[in-house]
Amino acid sequence: MSQKDISCFDFVTPQGNRHLKLEEGARLVMSMALGHLPSCDCPLAAALGRVLSKDIVAPFNVPQNINAAMDGFALKGEELGAQTEWELQGQSLAGRAFDGRLQPGGAVKITTGAPMPSGADTVVMQEMCELRGTRVVIADSVAVRPGSNVRQAGEDIAVGSLVLRRGQRLGPIEIGMLASLGLHQASVYKPLKVAVFSTGDEVCAPGDELQPSGIYDTNRFTLLSVLKGLECEVEDLGILPDDKASIEQALQQAAQRNRLVLTSGGVSVGEADFVKQALSSLGNTSFWQLAIRPGRPIAFGDLGLNQDGELCLFAGLPGNPVAVMVTFCLLLQPLIRKLQGETEWVGLTWQARATESMKSRTGRSDFHRGIFTITEGGELEVRTTGHQGSGILTSMHEANCLIRIEEDRDRVEAGSRVRIYPFSRWLPGYPLV
Ligand code: AMP
Ligand code: MG
Repeated sequence: MSQKDISCFDFVTPQGNRHLKLEEGARLVMSMALGHLPSCDCPLAAALGRVLSKDIVAPFNVPQNINAAMDGFALKGEELGAQTEWELQGQSLAGRAFDGRLQPGGAVKITTGAPMPSGADTVVMQEMCELRGTRVVIADSVAVRPGSNVRQAGEDIAVGSLVLRRGQRLGPIEIGMLASLGLHQASVYKPLKVAVFSTGDEVCAPGDELQPSGIYDTNRFTLLSVLKGLECEVEDLGILPDDKASIEQALQQAAQRNRLVLTSGGVSVGEADFVKQALSSLGNTSFWQLAIRPGRPIAFGDLGLNQDGELCLFAGLPGNPVAVMVTFCLLLQPLIRKLQGETEWVGLTWQARATESMKSRTGRSDFHRGIFTITEGGELEVRTTGHQGSGILTSMHEANCLIRIEEDRDRVEAGSRVRIYPFSRWLPGYPLV
């Protein structure tokens, strides 16, 4: 019988800390997002991605009038079929309504969106009508259903209805809806202030010369990008050396000005890993190990109150670029959305059929990078991107989802079902290509 490899997940730390399961960690993280959220007014043109801080109730009907859905002639529906000619009594244009009342046997020329003249209830499309002087001839008037081609007032939004709820993140459509109600600004939560820095003596800034044992700073740029995708106000604090005093000082200062501080690297048990120590000396550690791969070393806690009297939360993310993205998507993203007041986001996952076998270990959740496709029969299938090292960022580039192998499985057989986390939902700023 072969012995199982020993893994770091098998150990309990000398302090008695065990690895929390992902959902346990996520619950702790979310429980830290408390407190009042300040709001402000934001011009509509700048409101994309912001979160509404007040419910929106319609002050009037949209559209405000009963109006034509087609260019044509407005008339009384009950006269259709009984006659083939109507007398032209005027016109109603979008922006300039017919102000009389339609008389029996009469028709009014009307354009799309123009208010229906009083007395008319049907629009006959222009293509079916022939104008001969002041007579409108509709040869096949039996074919027109009374009441057709008319939009009712309030059929889009009824006066007094709840249009959008507080906690809704504004996308292009929601902004259009606010505009249709005549609103030129929206009451939204103030931007969430987040500071980011990288740690590591080997980490070099892109643009600088790569040191002989150096590596370029990937994490700061992926993090800045996902934070931008969530409309955060980001403070980029660059790269810190593996030096306890510098890390402590930088964390302390960043905690004053921000609601959340994110670092990457230096959270493991190596000689140069000072982030955890800095967190416990400046604030409180909620947990620092999760039973997930990639992403096992992650320190979470708080750095005390900031200058606005809010608790500044802290996440020391791992150093490996894939682990940074995976932990951000799974833990930080839901936290940030909650800190921004968003209530509508749901962490949607799907079940897919694995087309290849995958290995894991019981007791931890593995997240492989996956490519899902839909078969001709409409079935969701997923395969991995190949080699799954946590430093291989190209594996994220090729992927369109994460594949989860849950704690109770040590293997996934080809053909069995797995849970996938689509990037379009979980990776803020992911291009919808
Ligand atoms: P650490 O936990 O600090 O030992 O980092 C784990 C691995 O991630 C090491 O190979 C680091 O060189 C790498 N790493 C740390 N920070 C970064 C970064 N900002 N960009 C790219 N790789 C990094
Ligand atoms: Mg390091």
